[in-house]
Amino acid sequence: MRVFEKLAEYRYEQLVFCHDKATGLQAIVAIHDTTLGPALGGCRMYPYASEDEAIVDVLRLARGMTYKAAASGLNLGGGKSVIIGDPHTDKSEALFRSFGRYIETLGGRYIVAEDVGTSTEDANFIRVETSHVVGVDVTRGGSGDPSPLTALGVLQGMRACVEEVFGTSSLEGRVVAVQGAGHVGYYLCRLLHQEGTNLIVTDVHEAALGRVVKEFGAKAVEPNEILTIPCDIFAPCALGAVLDDVTIPELRCRIVAGSANNVLAESGHGQDLSERSILYAPDYVINAGGLINVADELEGYNERRATARVMRIEDRIRRIIAISKRDGVSTNVAADTLALERIATISSMERLHTGHPYGQLSRRRETI
Ligand code: NAD
Repeated sequence: MRVFEKLAEYRYEQLVFCHDKATGLQAIVAIHDTTLGPALGGCRMYPYASEDEAIVDVLRLARGMTYKAAASGLNLGGGKSVIIGDPHTDKSEALFRSFGRYIETLGGRYIVAEDVGTSTEDANFIRVETSHVVGVDVTRGGSGDPSPLTALGVLQGMRACVEEVFGTSSLEGRVVAVQGAGHVGYYLCRLLHQEGTNLIVTDVHEAALGRVVKEFGAKAVEPNEILTIPCDIFAPCALGAVLDDVTIPELRCRIVAGSANNVLAESGHGQDLSERSILYAPDYVINAGGLINVADELEGYNERRATARVMRIEDRIRRIIAISKRDGVSTNVAADTLALERIATISSMERLHTGHPYGQLSRRRETI
C-alpha cells in the first residue's frame, strides 16, 4: 500500500505503528484531524487478515470520528486505533499496558476509548499507563454504560424528525418499529413507551425481545418483517447496512431514526430515501449520545451535564434538516456539511490566532 498517498487522499495528520515484541502488540493509531481538539476514538481489536486491511479500517474509522465529533458540537478531533489480534485469545494486561504506553507518547493528541473487541477492563489497564483514555470503570471516574444516553439522543433526534414530518414534536400515538432490543434498543423502547408510542419490535435473541414485550407492551414481529411493516418511524438499532437497493423500496415508514452505525449501505441511499419522502436522521449524529457521554469524562464526568449535552441532538437534527433544504441535498450529505462547516470555521480562527496547523490542544474544554 502507498501509505502517504492514502493519507493525502483525506488529509490524515498521522499514522502511528506500535510494535512490542515482548507482549506481541501490533497496533495502529490513526489521527485524522485535530482542528477542533485532540482526536478521540475507540480501539478496535480484531484478527485482521493483513496489515493493509487493518490500515484501511483504522483510517476509515478515524475519519468517521472527525465528522461525528464535529457534528456533535464536541471540541474533539477524529482518531481511532486498532490492535491486530483475536480479542478472545490474545488479550493480556501486559498487551494493554504496552498499548497504553504508546498512547502516552502521543501526549494527548489521541484519546482512546473502547470499541468492538475491547472492554472497560482493557481500558482500566491502559489507564495505568496514560490518562489519555476514557470509558474506564465507573469506580475510577468513568461514565459507565453509554447505551441509556445513546437511546436518549435517538429519542431527541426522533422529536426533530416528527416535528418536520408531522408538524408536532410529540411522539404520542406514533407507531415505531424497532430493529434490535439490545443495549440501546431496550432503553429506547423504555423511553418511547413513556412517550406513549405504539411499539413494534424484533430481535433475533428471544430473551431480549420477550423483555420489551413484557415490560412495554411491544408487539413482537419476525426479524424479516420489521423493514416492511407500516409505521411512522423505523428505528434500526441492530446492524449496519440495513438500507440498500433492495430494502429501501420495501420501507413503509416516514422516518428512519435509530442508533445503528452505517445504516445506509452506500451514501447514495440517502438520496433514495429522500426521493421517497422518507426523512433520514443521519446515524452518526443521532447516535452520538454515547460519544458525548464518554467525552464528558475529560472534564471529570458529570451525568447531568452529559445528559444536557445529549438533549441537544434534537437541535442538531433540526439544523441538518435545514441544511438539507438549503442545499437541496440528502440529510446524510447535510450532516457532513454541518461537520465540515464547523471545522472550516474553527480552522480559519486557529490560523488567525496561533498560526499552528494543529492549534492548541489543551485549552478547548467547553463543549458547545
Ligand atoms: P447490542 O449488541 O446490545 O444489541 C443489538 C441487538 O440486535 C441484539 O439484541 C441482537 O440480538 C439484535 N440483532 C442482531 N441481529 C439482528 C437482526 N438481524 N434482526 C433483529 N435483531 C438483531 O448492541 P447495542 O449496543 O444496543 O448497539 C446497537 C447498534 O447501535 C449497533 O449498531 C451499535 O454500533 C450502535 N451504537 C451503539 C451505541 C451504544 O451506546 N451502545 C452507541 C452508538 C451506536
